[in-house]
Amino acid sequence: MENKTVYLNGQYLPLSEAKISVMDRGFLFGDGIYEVIPAYHGQLFRFQEHMERLENSLSNIRLPNPHSREQWLKILTELLSPSGDQYIYLQVTRGVAPKRDHAFPEKAEPTVFAMCSNIVPFEGRETGVKAISLDDSRWELCHVKATTLLANILLRQQAVEQGCAEAVLVNKDGYVTEGAASNIFAVIDGILITPPKSCEILPGITRDVILEIAQQNNIPFREEIIALEALKNASEIWLTSSTREIIPVVEFDSHKVADGRPGPVWQNMNRLFQAYKQSLS
Ligand code: PMP
Repeated sequence: MENKTVYLNGQYLPLSEAKISVMDRGFLFGDGIYEVIPAYHGQLFRFQEHMERLENSLSNIRLPNPHSREQWLKILTELLSPSGDQYIYLQVTRGVAPKRDHAFPEKAEPTVFAMCSNIVPFEGRETGVKAISLDDSRWELCHVKATTLLANILLRQQAVEQGCAEAVLVNKDGYVTEGAASNIFAVIDGILITPPKSCEILPGITRDVILEIAQQNNIPFREEIIALEALKNASEIWLTSSTREIIPVVEFDSHKVADGRPGPVWQNMNRLFQAYKQSLS
């Protein structure tokens, strides 16, 4: 295990020394939320947007934010290196309670943990990946970035065991929601489509950046529900997230997507996205 410096409850210390109690509600119940924030050349990417999502996650689980945005910025910036692509993982749990009881403890200090890792370019970003559809077995709080990720883990694992990079989740009405750890885009009849924000999806920051780029570059797009059947006939499918960026899907449910190669709309969007990242340094 790499012994980098991490942040835990007010202290910077080596990862190997960062320890929490087994009575922490994050450990016992998954009672916490998290954020993943990319940083390019020592600068946190879309920091305010990530803070807004963090605040929203915290308020949804009725946990007061332990820090102001300025404090968060200071805490997290300390962990960054000045160069390269990195990401911050931060987690806030409801803290250590004296006994294991589902209901909130009367008094508990939230546990705050943060660490920085290098973004390793995702294998398959240029060539494309395989994906499968699976029933979305998650709950009604998918807009909350909760550490309670068991359903997502089981779904992603099922995909991996079938040689796929991601599971595309389908709700009870037959509409796709998102990936197990990503948002989804499709190109249908020349239009870029992604499902609208709702409690069925995590509002991805990458998703918003892509829509912004589409708007600025006159790429036709819509936020609209996508039926699984429509996705199967899409000319392009992409999966997006902060650490993987924009991944083209070239095989979906064992069938080639178009000619089985990353499509022209992806080529264009990926170029614009990379240029935007470059422009920040
Ligand atoms: N949906 C889910 C379920 C996720 O876990 C993630 C992040 N890995 C995303 C969407 C993408 O969000 P972002 O672009 O902010 O990384």
